[in-house]
Amino acid sequence: MSTQDIAREQRAQVPVDGAASVVGTPDGARHGWSVGIDIGGTKVLGVILDPGGLVRHEVRAPTVRGVEGVVSGVVDVVTQLTAQAGVALEDLAGIGLGVPGVVAPGDGTVEHAVNLGISQRVSLGVLVAQRLGGVPLVAVENDLNMAALGAAHLSDVPVVDLAFLALGTGVAAGLLLDGRLRRGAGGAAGEIGHLTLLVDGLPCKCGQTGCLEQYASGTAIDAAWPGPHERPAPAELFDAAAAGDAAAIAVRDRFAWAVASAVRILVLTCDVRRVVIGGGVSQVGEPLLAAVQGVLAAEAQASPFLASMALAERVVLAPAGVPVGAVGAALAGRLAREGAL
Ligand SMILES: [Zn+2]
Repeated sequence: MSTQDIAREQRAQVPVDGAASVVGTPDGARHGWSVGIDIGGTKVLGVILDPGGLVRHEVRAPTVRGVEGVVSGVVDVVTQLTAQAGVALEDLAGIGLGVPGVVAPGDGTVEHAVNLGISQRVSLGVLVAQRLGGVPLVAVENDLNMAALGAAHLSDVPVVDLAFLALGTGVAAGLLLDGRLRRGAGGAAGEIGHLTLLVDGLPCKCGQTGCLEQYASGTAIDAAWPGPHERPAPAELFDAAAAGDAAAIAVRDRFAWAVASAVRILVLTCDVRRVVIGGGVSQVGEPLLAAVQGVLAAEAQASPFLASMALAERVVLAPAGVPVGAVGAALAGRLAREGAL
């Protein structure tokens, strides 16, 4: 096993709630550590990375909506993580926050984040820095951009062109191109969920019809495979399909086709080497990957052009159980301090 393999294995080992198996002792310089926080609609998930990029501690807390609730929640998580690692706040190489919403590309101002109860423009990074006693800079990015950074860091091969495709309530992607985040002029790069997939298709809340998101999201599965469910709808759907249920097979195959279309859009637009499938639906795991790759392989059979793009080989699942977005946020915090984000 090479040094790189060992580092990769260690990166994949994420201790939960401070029950860390590898904790350094504060025996001198503690520089180079960074904290990343993924602020979701239901939970705030934070990690602290050591200077080598390994996750050393993880903390999660319920999300409290509204600016004050979010700022306090972030400050609590940062404080817990630095205490667990024995790293002074002023020694951190950076702090990053991933936010589910529109973040201004220039200064990290959150324009709005509906799921967090934030509807006004707010400089979240400045507020958190002030509350923490004036730490220099807190980087704020859209959560999928953070996930793209994290996925590249955790990749099995070095990769500088990557899309993180999130299949959750909606569908959108974070883009890392030539090693830099692609935010776009207005921070909306990667909003592929509202590309038209089917003419005259299902109505979408965005006002269009037939949007990709109506076919490739967790919400789409909920609608096409209604409950009651004991487990998440995607898991039950894929199990039923695997057991031979004809209706489930039809729903699964249509879903896989839509996700494969998202992959095709991302690769043909940006020629990313990796499309990393994440978001809640990715918890289905290998059966999801197999279904999507199956569609891509069939499309390649029919099209020498698509075959030449080797789409199926570019798709992977986000590593299970690893807080990819929080890891990316910690990296973003460090890169921002270096002026390299
Ligand atoms: Zn739409």
